[in-house]
Amino acid sequence: MDKKLKGQIAIITGASSGIGAGVAKTLSEAGATVVVNHPVAATKDAAEAVLTEIKNGGGTGITYQCDVSKEDEVIKMFADIVAQFGTVDILINNAGLQRDSPFEKMTLEQWNFVIGVNLTGQFLCAREAIKEFLRRGVTEKSKAAGKIICMSSVHEVIPWAGHANYAASKGGIMLMMKSIAQEFAPKKIRINSICPGAIQTPINKSAWDTPQAMQSLLTLIPYQRIGQPEDIGNTAVWLCSDDADYITGASIFVDGGMTLYPGFSTNG
Ligand code: NAD
Repeated sequence: MDKKLKGQIAIITGASSGIGAGVAKTLSEAGATVVVNHPVAATKDAAEAVLTEIKNGGGTGITYQCDVSKEDEVIKMFADIVAQFGTVDILINNAGLQRDSPFEKMTLEQWNFVIGVNLTGQFLCAREAIKEFLRRGVTEKSKAAGKIICMSSVHEVIPWAGHANYAASKGGIMLMMKSIAQEFAPKKIRINSICPGAIQTPINKSAWDTPQAMQSLLTLIPYQRIGQPEDIGNTAVWLCSDDADYITGASIFVDGGMTLYPGFSTNG
């Protein structure tokens, strides 16, 4: 892979599994030094395994424990990374989770937990990244002073019964992303979202771990395959590179056509 992100420092939140791990690997292959963020002591081993794979492939990076929903931890993570590496060039706002429930039974705790990680976590990390981008400005490493990718979902536009907290978090990410993209474009900071469809990771295991589940899932995917973390990683590398220098405030759907109303392919 071209080293299009050579010398750039990238923080990937929630990178000890799934899409975050895949994005950390592809950013590393593109020359970035990666911070493999994970939330708690119990996720350290998985984060270290991702980092080992990256290092075995010739990459560089560290693991860093930080719960993105906690303001003090996020502020400390950015301060520590800037102290160690001099700056941060790329933030992949990826950490996210689900706590599904029929709406009438959804507890305030389930609501707040999902919004706290998926939306507030992205706010806190984006704010700290932007402070650093503003401080540093544009350098020879990139045409932009900094790049943020918010990991959204097809559910920023597709309603999802039984998952109102999750869909609300992703809808919220869409307008936070577009608002801050508008606010900081004059400062040469680019902010975009990737909206994955069904990607084969632990978060949606029940949707693909039996042949019946997979067959049912594929009825929602015109391209007729489940996505892989590398599909998102390859998009992230391009979106963070200067090849995408004129793109900001965009929601890029990487979904095999899931948002194309597949139910209408047989005339509705
Ligand atoms: P995953 O469960 O493998 O990854 C989520 C990661 O977030 C985990 O590594 C977890 O440890 C981490 N995390 C959870 N809470 C955290 C916190 N407070 N602080 C830091 N990290 C935390 O699932 P995934 O599919 O890789 O999901 C990654 C992102 O992609 C999520 O934002 C998810 O909503 C989004 N997404 C996934 C799919 C899909 O089909 N897999 C589709 C659309 C969007």
